[in-house]
Amino acid sequence: MARLDWRGTSDDGQRPPMNSLPRSVPVAPSISRQRIQVRGLVQGVGFRPHVYRCALAHDLAGWVCNDGQGVSIEVEGRDVDGFVRSLEDQIPPLGRIDSLQRFELPVALESGFQIRKSNADGTTSAAIPADAAICDRCVRELFDRQDRRYLHPFIACSDCGPRYSMTRAVPYDRQNTTMAEHPMCDACAVDYGDPLGRRLHAEPIACHDCGPVLSHTLEAIGAAIRVGKIVALKGVGGFHLVGDARNADLVLRLRTRKQRSDKPFAVMLLNRASACTELELSDPALTELQSWRRPVVVGERQMHGALHRELAPGLSTQGVMLPYTGIHYLLFWELAGRPDGHSWLSQVSDIALLMTSANISGDPILADNEETHAALADVADLVVTHDREICCESDDSVLRDAQGTLVQLRRSRGYVPQSLNLGRTLPPVLGTGAYLKNTVCAVRGDQAFMSAHLGDMASVATRRFAQDSLAALLEQLAFTPQAIACDLHPDYASSRVAETLAVRYAIPLIAVQHHHAHAASVLALADYRESALALVLDGHGMGADGASWGGELLRLDGANMQRLGHLQPLATPGGDKAAREPWRMAVAALSMLGRDDDARARFGDLPMIDAVVSLARSPDCPRSSSAGRLFDAVAGLLDVCHTTGYEAEAPMRLESLVRAPQSLENGYHIADDSVLDFAELLRALSDIDEATRGAELFHGTLVDGLAAWVAQHANAQNLECVALSGGCFANRWLARMLPDRLERQGLRVLSEWDRLPPGDGGVSLGQAYIAALTLENN
Ligand SMILES: [Zn+2]
Ligand SMILES: [Zn+2]
Ligand SMILES: [Zn+2]
Repeated sequence: MARLDWRGTSDDGQRPPMNSLPRSVPVAPSISRQRIQVRGLVQGVGFRPHVYRCALAHDLAGWVCNDGQGVSIEVEGRDVDGFVRSLEDQIPPLGRIDSLQRFELPVALESGFQIRKSNADGTTSAAIPADAAICDRCVRELFDRQDRRYLHPFIACSDCGPRYSMTRAVPYDRQNTTMAEHPMCDACAVDYGDPLGRRLHAEPIACHDCGPVLSHTLEAIGAAIRVGKIVALKGVGGFHLVGDARNADLVLRLRTRKQRSDKPFAVMLLNRASACTELELSDPALTELQSWRRPVVVGERQMHGALHRELAPGLSTQGVMLPYTGIHYLLFWELAGRPDGHSWLSQVSDIALLMTSANISGDPILADNEETHAALADVADLVVTHDREICCESDDSVLRDAQGTLVQLRRSRGYVPQSLNLGRTLPPVLGTGAYLKNTVCAVRGDQAFMSAHLGDMASVATRRFAQDSLAALLEQLAFTPQAIACDLHPDYASSRVAETLAVRYAIPLIAVQHHHAHAASVLALADYRESALALVLDGHGMGADGASWGGELLRLDGANMQRLGHLQPLATPGGDKAAREPWRMAVAALSMLGRDDDARARFGDLPMIDAVVSLARSPDCPRSSSAGRLFDAVAGLLDVCHTTGYEAEAPMRLESLVRAPQSLENGYHIADDSVLDFAELLRALSDIDEATRGAELFHGTLVDGLAAWVAQHANAQNLECVALSGGCFANRWLARMLPDRLERQGLRVLSEWDRLPPGDGGVSLGQAYIAALTLENN
C-alpha cells in the first residue's frame, strides 16, 4: 500500500534516478533510513502508539522511544515521507508537535518496528502531560454491559485520564506515578502492551480487578446527594464539594458552612445540550466546554434557564462544566436512575451538580485523604475518597465566554503543566508572581512553564504550595535559573520567596513593576519584539513611585517600561478596606466632586461615615489610579454593592446589569498630563437613580474614554500595537468592545487571554520575561 501511495514528490535525495528506467514500469522508491526528532506535547499522549501505527501503515521498520525533550524515532523503508505526513496529519487528540527534525542515516536493513522503553539518558523531560477528561470511547465502554470495564470508575486509555495529578517524577512512566501502587492484572497488562489497542502504554490503565477503589458505593453517594447532603468527592486534582444544585436550601447551607458569602458556585451538567438550555454559549466556548481539558466556562444565563439564582447571587452569569471522569459519569447515571444503553448520555438532563473546590478559604485545593477528612469535618456530610493518591493538586480551570472572546480566569487542570510556546529562546529564569490568585513560572528555552493556580499568598498553605511548586518545576526541568523575578512590592510573600532563591543560587533578583509584568506577559506570548503600548486595567499593584497603580497606559521597549498616563487617582479611604467596601470608594468619588454632604446623606447609616468622609478629603489619604477601584466607586454610587464578600464582586454585579452599554457625551476628559479623568461621568452617575442605566452609561463611556486615550498616545508615540492586560478584562464588555474599537482605529491589539489569564495568574510569566530580556541586554 505504501508503494502505491508513493508519488515521488520528495526532493530530499531519495528519489530514484527516473531517467535510467523505462517509463512504463512502476518505480519502487529506494529504501532509506532516517532519524526523526519530535518536540512538543508528545509524551504520555499516545504518541508512541501513533508512531507505531503510522510505521506499520507505511511498511517501515525501526523504533520509537521517549527521550529527554520529546520523542526519537528511527525508521527505514520506502515511504518515510508518507510516514511523516501521517505522523503530522493524524496527531493524537492530546498531542501537539512544535518541531520535527529529520536526519539521513545509513540503511541498517532492520526488520520489524519496536516501541522502546524510555531513553533514560540523564536529561529529564518536562513533558508531563496534562490531566485529560475521559474520552468518548471510554464513556461508551463505561456503559457497555459487555465490556470488562463496565461501570469501572477509573476507566482510562491512551487518549484520556489523569496524568499530571498522579505523576511523582519524570519521565512519565507508570512506575513514576501513583498508579505504581496498583499493579496491573494480566488482562490489563495485555492491553498495556498491545501496540494496536487503545491502551498501549496508557499509564492510568485500570479495571475492576486491579484499579483503585472508591470508598463508597454509587448507591450510597447517589442517596446522599438525593436527600440534599453535601458530599466531598475526590476528583482528579483534588476534592470537590458536591451537592444537588437544584436544591436551594443546600446551596445556602453550603454557603454558611463554607463561610463563602455570595461567591458564585459552578455546576456540572451532563452534556452540551443541557448546558445550552441554561447558558447562552458561543461556538468557541462550546468547543472548549467539551474539549478534553473540560474547564469551567462562565457564560450568560439563559433567560428561562432553571438553575437557581442563589448559585451566583446578583450575577447574570453562571459557571458550568461537563463531567470529566468515570466517577462523574457514574454519578449522573446513578442519579438518572441507572438508564440502559447510551442514548441518555446525549439527551438533555435536568440533573445539575454543584461543584466547588474543597478548600479552606484562600488555601489550595485539598487533595490528601486524611487532611480532607479533618478539614471538612464541619462542611461535608460524607467524604468519598479513593486509593489513587493525588500527587500534583490542581483546581478546575475557568474560562469566561465574552460573546465568543474567551478569557482565561484560572489556568489549571487540563492546561498545566503544558508549556506555553514563546517563539524564541530565552535565558533560564523564574518568576514568583504577585499576591492574589498567584502562579509561578519558569522559562526554559523557548517555553514558559506555569504552575497550577496556587491561591492567595496570604495563606500559609498557599505559600508552602508555591514553594513546593517552584521546587517541582526546578526538578522537572533540570533547571538552574540565571535570574529570578518578583513583584516590586517587597512585602509580598512571593517577593520573599524570590529573595531566598536568589541568595541560594547566587543570581540576580529582578523586581518588576506589577503592571509592567502584566503587559509583558502578553508581548511574551505574542512574541512581539517591537516597542508597544500597553493598557493595563487592574486592581492594585505597587507603582514605580510607591503609590497604588491599576489603570495604566504604558510604553514598553524591550525590558524597559515608561508610564505614559493613568486614570485620575481616587482616594482609597481605609486602604485595603476600600477594596472590600465599595461604599468607601463612592465616598471618595463624591468627595472628589465636592459633595461631602451628599456622601453623608447617602451613607449616613454606616457607622464610619464621618471618619471616611474626612479621610477621603485628607491630602494624606493614599490615592490609587486603579481601574478596579473606579468600578468599585461606581458600584457604590449606584447602590449595586456597598460591601463585598469576595474579590471583584462589585465589578461583577455592575457588569451583570448591563444589556447595552451607552455613551455619556463629554463623560471623560484627557488632561494635558495624560491623565484620563471620568469626573463628569461620576457626577452624572451620582444623580442617577436607576442602577441599570448607570451601569450601562459607565461601561459605554469607559470604553469611549479608553479608546480615545489609547489612540491619542498611539499617534503621539508613533506606535501601532497595543497590549491589553489586567484583571478588569474579565469584564465581558471591556473584553469584547475595547479590542474592536481599537482595531477600528487602525491599531493592532494583542491580548492572548485565551492562553493566559489577564489577571494576576499571568503576572509570573511577564516577570520572568522581563528578567530574561534584562539578562539578554547585559
Ligand atoms: Zn479513553
Ligand atoms: Zn486490570
Ligand atoms: Zn494585577
